Amino acid sequence: MNNDVAALVPAAGSGERLGLGPKAFLGIGGVSLVSRVVNTLTGCVGRVLVGVPPGYLDKATAELGDAAEVYPGGDSRQSTIYSLLQKCAEPIILINDGNRPFASRALVLKVIDKARRHGAAIAFTPALIPFARRQDGFLVSPVPSRQAIVPQSPQAFHRDILERGYQNALENGIEDQTTWEIILRLGVKVFVVEGEETNIKITSPLDWEIANKVIAPLVQRQKK
Ligand code: C5P
Repeated sequence: MNNDVAALVPAAGSGERLGLGPKAFLGIGGVSLVSRVVNTLTGCVGRVLVGVPPGYLDKATAELGDAAEVYPGGDSRQSTIYSLLQKCAEPIILINDGNRPFASRALVLKVIDKARRHGAAIAFTPALIPFARRQDGFLVSPVPSRQAIVPQSPQAFHRDILERGYQNALENGIEDQTTWEIILRLGVKVFVVEGEETNIKITSPLDWEIANKVIAPLVQRQKK
């Protein structure tokens, strides 16, 4: 067990694009997304900290019990993660988004292991379809698929790297969508670990359908 690792779960989004309220509390197969994430992480790390919308503190605490510490999140993913980071002192920090409930423990452990060695590591899936850049309404150039990857969480970092990244963002008024962008700005290399196709991020109504009807049953079968 990685007792020197704290896992941060940003789960304070309002779920606007899905339109069913804060996603963390939606259930798949009777288990909420945030409970699924926490269940996976508790087997892998010493401590789990979850950031939820401020009005959901009691609900989250009742649902997660002793498995996780619950805190109010901020008004962006970045500020939720930064505030959770201030609540712990572990030397290795894992991040798993609250709307990515299907990562396996094996993947989480592999990402932690690679982050220990390289300082920063994230899961990815390869691009199996062509990608292109567009500009002003026109397609301008291809992105060779061997160069393109789709970053996922789990992601893990040496604490000092993560702190430097978020401090740099704060001081320079940078608001990035992803943690790896924040780390790349420091000039730090981020090691990539092949992730899992089933580890989708649930954002749109289509993702929600796929998560319920395809991925949850598949992951359940794989666990047996
Ligand atoms: O919106 P997006 O899908 O990029 O959000 C990724 C994760 O960040 C989600 O789990 C969401 O709950 C979380 N988040 C957060 N605080 C916010 C906005 C998003 O913890 N203010």
